[in-house]
Amino acid sequence: MEMQELKKCKKILIEVNQTCNLNCTYCFYKDYGRTSQSLTINNIIELLKKCPTANEFYLTGGECFTSINIENIIEKLSQKGKVIVFTNGIILNKYSDNRLLTVVNNVDRFIISFDSFDFKNYFCRKKLDETINTIEKILKINPKKVEVKVCITQYNYEYLEKTFEQLIKLGVEFLSVNFVFDIQNSTIKHEVKETAILKNIFRIIYKYKKYFNIDYINMLYDLYINNKINDKFPCLADYSYYYLTSTNQYLICPGNCKKIGQRGNWKECFSKECANEWEIMYMR
Ligand code: SF4
Repeated sequence: MEMQELKKCKKILIEVNQTCNLNCTYCFYKDYGRTSQSLTINNIIELLKKCPTANEFYLTGGECFTSINIENIIEKLSQKGKVIVFTNGIILNKYSDNRLLTVVNNVDRFIISFDSFDFKNYFCRKKLDETINTIEKILKINPKKVEVKVCITQYNYEYLEKTFEQLIKLGVEFLSVNFVFDIQNSTIKHEVKETAILKNIFRIIYKYKKYFNIDYINMLYDLYINNKINDKFPCLADYSYYYLTSTNQYLICPGNCKKIGQRGNWKECFSKECANEWEIMYMR
């Protein structure tokens, strides 16, 4: 059964590891706990055998560049299809020019998370100046390979427009957002919940719409403002999209942790956590 399902797979979200070099105050691993186990190159070779039609690979962590295997994994997957990497960019900032160039040549897009240019006062996440250095370095190599995903919290939404402006000024051509949601094991409340504020955030995003995957933004608008799921973009998990965990388990998606072939009605399991996956399912 499992093999049959995987044989049809097109897109795979691969959690290379759960280790991270940051300790963001809103990180959902504070609720889930972390394993130190990470995928090996043999796990990836096995994945390619199990999923012969897969041609889009989304690598995530933790921070996947903390894995000693990451460059080999990227190289292996790039021979088979598109490689899209989620990263905070900090370790890449320490790479030599040649090493960075090799990684950039094998990756189709880096989705780099970023929160604020207020390096001194913004407390939810650190080393933002190093993230910006990496964004600038990759932009110089190939601007088409950089997407910056701005994590929106209670502590940065007020200057969101300024953040977009500064990123665009650096040469960023692709923007995205991630609405940070509240986690249980943090006394700090990060989530922006007030409808009037959310509407204003969307007004700003739509002003810069040429930089965004607008289908994804429309989905988010329906979810956060209209409180409904957009039927035009059904969840593809358990059909053509699967999830490989850092402990080498094949699952439907990170959200419901069910084994493949058991999803049921996706509208009953969706949550705000799924919104990021919708961007993967409907990547432009
Ligand atoms: S939890 Fe979300 S991503 Fe997973 S199957 Fe349900 S709707 Fe899809």
